[in-house]
Amino acid sequence: MIINVNKISEKGYALNDSTELDNSHLIEEGSFFLDGVDYQVLFKRQDQRIQAQGNIQTAISLVCVRCLEQFELKIHSRFDIILFPKELVEQRSTALDEDDLEYIFYENDQIDLEKILVEQVNLFIPFKPVCRSECKGICPSCGANLNRGACPCDQAKNEIKFLFEKVKR
Ligand SMILES: [Zn+2]
Ligand SMILES: [Zn+2]
Repeated sequence: MIINVNKISEKGYALNDSTELDNSHLIEEGSFFLDGVDYQVLFKRQDQRIQAQGNIQTAISLVCVRCLEQFELKIHSRFDIILFPKELVEQRSTALDEDDLEYIFYENDQIDLEKILVEQVNLFIPFKPVCRSECKGICPSCGANLNRGACPCDQAKNEIKFLFEKVKR
């Protein structure tokens, strides 16, 4: 998915397509694509500066950090990014702070669209993914998924509490 910069005129260059991305691109451990990636991108060019505005839609499977079960995350992401040629970024980088170096760049007049799409998908993944905000997680002693109801430990705990209360009286 390489786009030659010369294809992009002043009026722009629009793409509307879908692709399959490899699971190895996903940074989140245990995650994988459940669907192909649909995308619409409009590239606009001003000399060497290229603006890419677009949308992507896909679905991925993630592991919930609380209950450790797989769940589906639908991705609908909009992006609006600016790309510069790498040569230009390297020239300027000496004068800039490290923090300012978050450029996206292209090399040899070629834009790697796959790289942009992969990055957008990864940006969409929450830092600590949970299957739903009320997820109860797993029991620390027996590992049961508490979303499916109380585990035996819960009952045992209640019994102990009950006995304890009895002793106190
Ligand atoms: Zn969960
Ligand atoms: Zn338990």
